[in-house]
Parts: sequence; structure tokens; C-alpha cells
Amino acid sequence: MKINFRERCVPINSPTLPPAESLISDLSEVLNSGLITNSRYVCELEKKLAKYMNIRNAICMSSCTSGLMLVERCLGLKGEVIVPSFTFPATVHTLVWNNLKPVFVDCDPKTFNLHPLEVELNIGEKTSAILGVYIFGNPPEIESLSKLANKHGLKLIFDTAHGLGAMYKATSSGNFGEAEVFSLAPTKLVTSGEGGVVATNNDELAERLRLGRNYGNPGNYNCSLIGLNARMPELNAILGLKTLESLEANIFKRHRLVSLYKSLLGEIPGISFQEVREGNRSPYNYFSVLIEPDRFGMTNTNLKLALEKRGIATRVYFSPPVHRQDAYREYYEECKDRLPVTEWVCERILCLPLFSHMSEDMVRYVCDKVEKIHWENKKVIKVGRV
Ligand SMILES: *Cc1c(COP(=O)(O)O)cnc(C)c1O
Repeated sequence: MKINFRERCVPINSPTLPPAESLISDLSEVLNSGLITNSRYVCELEKKLAKYMNIRNAICMSSCTSGLMLVERCLGLKGEVIVPSFTFPATVHTLVWNNLKPVFVDCDPKTFNLHPLEVELNIGEKTSAILGVYIFGNPPEIESLSKLANKHGLKLIFDTAHGLGAMYKATSSGNFGEAEVFSLAPTKLVTSGEGGVVATNNDELAERLRLGRNYGNPGNYNCSLIGLNARMPELNAILGLKTLESLEANIFKRHRLVSLYKSLLGEIPGISFQEVREGNRSPYNYFSVLIEPDRFGMTNTNLKLALEKRGIATRVYFSPPVHRQDAYREYYEECKDRLPVTEWVCERILCLPLFSHMSEDMVRYVCDKVEKIHWENKKVIKVGRV
């Protein structure tokens, strides 16, 4: 296979950025105006995002983390919150920062999202909310989670960091629960360098969030809530606006690359894929595979090392799961026996390189290496047995 890209160096992820020239006039305008944070461009980004998702309010934040912290605080959550352990740690950090107790719940082995039956089993007297996550962009079981939230009088919120552009049964992400929180960090499809967005159809909550991102100061320094500085700078909003313009095209490109990946890897024994439920759309912020060690001939972590030697970066994401991380030691004992699927997924998961400007040749190159590693390893096993 002839390859022109700088092979032996395939990153797992790489932000797809606009050329500098396309930003210069907007950047000069901001610098000349002297209004460099939370002003015109942030407002424009909020309008465009609200229109894109068909929601009432999009509120820009400094990050998804600060957005989640403020949503939880502005909703006045108390006690316990149901959350997956198979997620990015920041999802859970935001609860602990709000003095809420995370109750870790197991995931589905196919979608890697919160399992509704497990959620119901863990709802108790002290539960005040469910925090669902779009794992790698895959919409969770929103209908079942909403029913549970209604039945038990709980708030439902989402960490949709990976899910801008996701669709649940033909409705855009951003429309579900009390609020959904997105990330515009560099590893996401739309990026403002750093940043986040809260989407909500609840105008009252939106108003509190706007206050909350500005210390809770209504303008007279008599703060009405304990807020943060979670404002988005104007310079970042300019980049967010530009990258938002290519979101749909980039999702389309990723879907083509994912189809190619699936057709090339699908025949290799011991490899399977994350399931996106019929009728839903994932923007594939990450492309993940499950490696069945017996059939593939190697564990996920050994495949990661073997690919690394060949210059291909992958990630065993999200492992260790949050309940096994050092900072969560105090929660471990209580939950360790109820997360078997989370453990099972973590022993098999591997995220392969995927980014919007990745070429089909790069995908072929990665698949070729995975296949070779599989067969070479099978040979070693056979020879070893003789
Ligand atoms: C990236 C990510 C976050 C954190 O987003 P920031 O904007 O960096 O705060 C939170 N949750 C998930 C699932 C993520 O992937």
C-alpha cells in the first residue's frame, strides 16, 4: 500500500481547524472593540447553537465542567446523583464539587451507556437526579431515563460533551432533560480552544445560569447565588463559530470513515463495535472497538502497545473507570460489586484514531496493522502449542 501521509505517526485525535486567514478580520474587530469576553461573538455563537439544535437557550461557558457545575448548583440538587462510572472523570467531579454523592451505576455492554434497569435499582430516598452521558457521542436511553425521572420526581441532566450533532429518534441533542452540557474543548468536533455550552428549554434555569457564569452577580455586586467565573472569551467564540460551520460536513466524513473501519475490521475475529440504536445518530467523537482477548489473541492494552510500536496512537478510554480512580477511593467499597459490565467493557475497550480530516488511507493503514497484529499473534500462539 502506498501511503503519502506522515505514516508511523497516526494520532488518535486531531482538531480540524480553519485557516488563520479566515479568522483575522473577526479577531481584529474584537481587539479593536476592546470587548474581549462574553460579548458580541459569544452571543452570536449562542444564537447559532440554539438554532442548530432547535432549542430555546444556549449558554456559553468556559468549559463543559464549569457548565455542569453550574447546572447542578442552579437546579439545587441535594443528596445523591446517579451517574455512570464508565465516563470521563469530569462528569463525576462536578457532582463532588457540589457536595453531591455520586451513585455509580452500571452500563449496557453494547451501547456503553447507563443501563435504565440498573438506574432504577439504585434510586433511593436521597436520590435527587440522574446524570446521563452520551458515551463517545452515542445517545443514551433517553425515553427510559425520562420515565424514571418523572416516576421518582428526579431531575434529569446530561453530559453531552461528545454529543453535539447527535440525534435521538430524529430530535437533536440539547432538547432533553432539564439541561444538556456540551464541551468545546480541542478533542471535540466543534471547538473554541476551550469552552462549553449549556442547552436548555427552561428559560428560568437559563437566566440563573447566565448569572451563575458571572460569579452570581446580577450587576450590583449583591450576589444572588454562589457562582463561578465561567465566561467564554470572545476570541474563543470566533473559533467556535468557525468550527460550528463545518460540523455537519465533519459528521458526514466521520460516518464514512467509521463505515470503512467497520467493513475492514468486521471480519477479524474478536473485534466488535459500539452499538448506536436504530434511529439515533452519533457524531462519533470517538470510534471505539471491543477486543475479545480469547478470540482476537491479545488484550486491549497489549493491542494498544503493539499499535504504539507501529506509530498508531489509541486510547483505552474510559479506563480505569471513575470508581477505580484514586480520587474516588472512598466510594469504591460501596459500589464495587454492582459494576460488572463496566469492568468487562474496560477490559476490552479501545478507541482507534478518528478525526474529521483523517484520510481513508489512514483508516486502511490502521486496519491493516490491526489485522497483521492479530494474525502474527495467532501464529505465535500456535507455534507455542506445538
Ligand atoms: C471532554 C469531556 C468533558 C470535559 O469537558 P471540558 O470542556 O474539558 O470541561 C466532560 N465529560 C465528557 C464525557 C467529556 O468527554
